Amino acid sequence: MAKKPIIVAIDDEQEFINMFNDYFELRGYEIHTAIKGVKGIELIKEKKPDIVILDLKMPGISGDEVLGLSKRVQPKAQVIFVTAYNDGGKTKAKMLDAGAYDYLDKPIPSLKALEETILKAYSQGSKTYN
Ligand SMILES: [Mg+2]
Repeated sequence: MAKKPIIVAIDDEQEFINMFNDYFELRGYEIHTAIKGVKGIELIKEKKPDIVILDLKMPGISGDEVLGLSKRVQPKAQVIFVTAYNDGGKTKAKMLDAGAYDYLDKPIPSLKALEETILKAYSQGSKTYN
């Protein structure tokens, strides 16, 4: 069986963190979570994830700043936004331009769909952005 990606999930809503944690842990993924951007960056440095699931709107360091820092400290990590923030695609386009792999709207259709996006991103992991 192929190695599964290591995931770091960062979201200020504990409910989402629990949901991601339960789903991916049960399926044998190594997942680490943070409800604050600062802690999330620490985890990215420490755990060297393949995938970062990232919220956009968070108090303190916001998702767009975390994306920039993540690209600096762990360039190979594919960042997937999962956010309720939708301004008609403007921010989405900006984040994709800044190197995010994808930008999914909350509520996501299913965790299975997120998992598929993650596996796709992981299989394309050698692709580099900057
Ligand atoms: Mg939020």
